[in-house]
Amino acid sequence: MIQLIKGFKDILPGEVEIWQQIEKITVSLLEDFGFKEIRIPIMEHTELFARSIGEDTDIVEKEMYTFRDRSGDLVTLRPEATASICRAYIQHKLFAKEPVQKLFTIGPMFRCEKPQKGRYRQFYQINAEIFGVASPLVDVELIVLLTTLFSRLSVSDIKAHINSLGCPECRPGFKAALTDFLASRTENLCSNCARRKDRNPLRVLDCKVPGCREEMAESPSLMDYLCPECLQDFESVKTNLEALNIPFVVDKRLVRGLDYYNRTTFEIQTGSLGAQNAVAGGGRYDGLVKELGGPDMPATGFAIGFDRLAEIVRLNIPEYVKTPDIFLAVLGKQNQSLVFEWKCALGIKGVKAEMDFSGRSLKSQMKRADKMKAKHVLIVGDNEIKEGSAILRNMVTKEQVSIPINGIVENVVAKL
Ligand code: AMP
Repeated sequence: MIQLIKGFKDILPGEVEIWQQIEKITVSLLEDFGFKEIRIPIMEHTELFARSIGEDTDIVEKEMYTFRDRSGDLVTLRPEATASICRAYIQHKLFAKEPVQKLFTIGPMFRCEKPQKGRYRQFYQINAEIFGVASPLVDVELIVLLTTLFSRLSVSDIKAHINSLGCPECRPGFKAALTDFLASRTENLCSNCARRKDRNPLRVLDCKVPGCREEMAESPSLMDYLCPECLQDFESVKTNLEALNIPFVVDKRLVRGLDYYNRTTFEIQTGSLGAQNAVAGGGRYDGLVKELGGPDMPATGFAIGFDRLAEIVRLNIPEYVKTPDIFLAVLGKQNQSLVFEWKCALGIKGVKAEMDFSGRSLKSQMKRADKMKAKHVLIVGDNEIKEGSAILRNMVTKEQVSIPINGIVENVVAKL
């Protein structure tokens, strides 16, 4: 039998309803916060990701699904959405109409990582980006949006981790200090970090390998190197989060796996997921729009890991299935066409109706209705049709009433 590709997954009925519920609540909240949806393709020129995410990152070095298409162009299945949204913002000159743009998108991302619980090769993200605002208040707004969303989804075991990555003025000083710190510790680092430590020492800070984590416990902190503007900016983020009663921790190791971030960076972590504890991450990326050929435009955003969020929500609601409003139990195959007409008419009126096409006994049809958790059952056989009235049974109260077949659809709707 042909199986699905390693690291890819099916989202089956029963779980899909949780995804739909999350999407509905998220989209409504994003719209309340002034975001508009943008839909971008899942494939782009490889160069877009190489230039934005950074050559020395895990994603670009070894995780992208990159291949030549039939015309020989090098293309990549998107590993994240921010670069594509920036490309669209620049390409369609959205900034010329209105520099401040608040955009969101929902869809699959592809990274050829080692599959494990909470880590897939095709996974879904909910992305939100704000272009054109330099104020750190919009970074706070994004964190407020995330904490509000999690509270609406009854996800409680979460904490915001924040850090500042500085700017091109102050980060080089920190990089130099970090490089000095790492110089004497190469032999204890994993092979990835040992290789990258000179070109991109910040990557070592967020390496998950236990040996590297131990080694970095005493590393210098970017906080001590921030320029006055970055420091003031970060203080403003903290003060405003406190004023809004949003719990957070300053996490000096939080550098994130993509190169384009600067200043405020954040991650929402949860205790409910084990090792893959980041359910959302984001931050400011002021230089990216210019780097990709657009105007010098500040920007900030986040990505929620949809799969991980659905996993946490599922822990609270083990199953979310829409049950039928009514099950039509029909006796005698000769009556099926008529009852089928009623079923269709009910569906058109927005009533979730199910019926059995097997011609089985009333007992087995009632069993099936029970199993589907139908709220009502309509019983129709030769006798009912002869007498001109069907039986409507309320499956919760077990109460039964007789309802006229003449105008049955309206009669049923009135009784539900
Ligand atoms: P990133 O784009 O790496 O900043 O990731 C943002 C969020 O996407 C993370 O906090 C995770 O929740 C989720 N995520 C990233 N990679 C994966 C993956 N391979 N499988 C499932 N979720 C992921």
